[in-house]
Amino acid sequence: MHQPVTKTTGGLIVLPKEHYLIQRYMKPPEVMDRIGRSACDQCSYCTELCPRYLLGYDVQPHLVMRSLGFSLAGSELWNSFSQLCCQCGICTLYSCPEGLYPREACVQGMADLRSAGKGKWEGPVKVKAHPMKDERRVPMKQLMNRLGIAKYDAKAEYVALEANPSRVRIPVKQHVGEKAVPIVSKGQRVEKAQLIAKINEDKLGANVHASMSGRVQEVNQDMIIIERVN
Ligand code: SF4
Ligand code: SF4
Repeated sequence: MHQPVTKTTGGLIVLPKEHYLIQRYMKPPEVMDRIGRSACDQCSYCTELCPRYLLGYDVQPHLVMRSLGFSLAGSELWNSFSQLCCQCGICTLYSCPEGLYPREACVQGMADLRSAGKGKWEGPVKVKAHPMKDERRVPMKQLMNRLGIAKYDAKAEYVALEANPSRVRIPVKQHVGEKAVPIVSKGQRVEKAQLIAKINEDKLGANVHASMSGRVQEVNQDMIIIERVN
């Protein structure tokens, strides 16, 4: 996967290909679905530990897992329990004792609802936290051990490095809300810190600025690419 560093990148952990997390990540969606269909015993641990469910939102991944056994039309009812999922991944990476993929089922469920024109939440907006919310918090150390990343928790000194890329890819959405709209065109010369994509005044979002001076090599609705010119 090729992703640029953005203002929301907090840090990067580089894992070996054979690491548990990479192996899970690389599983094709149809394999995740097939395993889920045959192995989910509806124990509901995924729901009981879901942070959104504990906050009081009607997110119930164990019900969404039922959708795997239905056609698109038949799964609509179960998919509705995915609508307020924030895709944190706790259910897939921590809660499920069978190693299944409830998060991925929720992501698919939301996409199916959106493509059926039913992606808008119409349920209650006032919520009440679950009485066991604090007791069911996932302990960070335990989570890190489960994910096999505890050994990477080492003190790292800050080393100031001067980056001098020949080309940068700048996503126009690095924030919550709407995408910013590009206001530069291909071939245009831009200066470092210049405004290159703007959020409409009536929308929630953030403007995007050039991270270096150069020439715009490509503009599309997701990304602006700038190459350095000497
Ligand atoms: S925790 Fe796993 S096995 Fe249990 S209901 Fe959720 S997906 Fe199914
Ligand atoms: S990925 Fe979604 S369903 Fe799973 S724990 Fe997070 S919010 Fe809950």
